[in-house]
Amino acid sequence: MPLFHTSSDEEIKRAATTDIYFIRTEEILKAKKLDKISVVADVTASGLPNNWPWGVLCGVEEEAKLFEGIPVDVYSMPEGTIFTPEDFRGFRVPVMVIEGAYGAFCLYETPMLGLACQASGVATQAARVRKAADEKMLLSFGIRRMHPALSPMLDRATYIGGFDGVSSLSGAKAIGGDPTGTMPHALIIMLGDQVKAWKAFDQIVEKNVPRVALVDTYFDEKIEAIMVAKALGKRLAGVRLDTPSSRKGNFAEIVKEVRWELDLRGFKNVKIFVSGGLNEETVKALSAAGAEGFGVGTSVSNAPTIDFAMDIIEKQGKPCAKRGKIGGKKQVWRCEKCMIEILQPFRKNHVSCPKCGGKTFPMLLPLVKNGRIVTKLPKPKDIRDYVLRQLGNVQLEKC
Ligand SMILES: [Zn+2]
Repeated sequence: MPLFHTSSDEEIKRAATTDIYFIRTEEILKAKKLDKISVVADVTASGLPNNWPWGVLCGVEEEAKLFEGIPVDVYSMPEGTIFTPEDFRGFRVPVMVIEGAYGAFCLYETPMLGLACQASGVATQAARVRKAADEKMLLSFGIRRMHPALSPMLDRATYIGGFDGVSSLSGAKAIGGDPTGTMPHALIIMLGDQVKAWKAFDQIVEKNVPRVALVDTYFDEKIEAIMVAKALGKRLAGVRLDTPSSRKGNFAEIVKEVRWELDLRGFKNVKIFVSGGLNEETVKALSAAGAEGFGVGTSVSNAPTIDFAMDIIEKQGKPCAKRGKIGGKKQVWRCEKCMIEILQPFRKNHVSCPKCGGKTFPMLLPLVKNGRIVTKLPKPKDIRDYVLRQLGNVQLEKC
């Protein structure tokens, strides 16, 4: 028996996490010799949580690994694509298309949705925090609130959404970087004295790790910030305020006060980092108050999922969509400049942007061909760069 309540790679690959009704469907189709019928299925979202105007597609690499070895063709928007659930006329936009004998992939609907829905929700929330923080430092602190088996996925999605670093070892491995962090209250408590703890950190931790001291353990943030600036002098890179919301009062005022007192004593280069229950609104407000770095946790790791659904929309080459969905295999064309999507039947050629008249590009690109991954899966850093490039062309709220 496994130690933890998680599925292994092998169980996920053989669809052991699927819903029972797909097992029964497969059984019936096989008995009736209908399992070899070829279909095309769209993956679409009917809307986005919290009235978000756009989402960030994440989980595509895992989809490629899921469908590898299964005799189907998969087309997908590239990982990190900022998509709107509907095109400019209000037609639902597929972010992914699966084509093949239905019996070959019927069982995979459950795991394929799970891989895209959660990672995309996290990446979207992370991108929104990135937009709210402008260029300031963002660190992912949220994996402690989620099942540890998911930490690589959560930290990767958060990084792809535009965060600068992640706190967990497993997340850092997933993004191909080093983990980033400061010090916990436990360190101060165990050393019994703030100054002793900061000095011990400075003495023992590798020199290339920036000295960012936690300054709200026993005294007021302002007092402790001055204490650590005097104790570490020029080696102090920053102070972190992790005040729990119950004691915060006006947190922006505390940030401003600490900034003033540090500046007054010649510590203008000491950056103020804040953490503890932050979200896209508080990051924006605290950034305006002078905070230069943020540790954001649960609001991102526990982001709402994007509820993608998979629907068969073509059977044996004929449109067959259920009510509420539109039929036939499709392509999504996008104008990068206007961030407009145009839904077209698959075989239609290039269309011009309805807004600027400029060139558009097809977004659903081959990912898997007859069970073989046919595209180079980009590195997390390149996916993050792609997200950041698009983020400049979208707004946080619906216009
Ligand atoms: Zn355009």
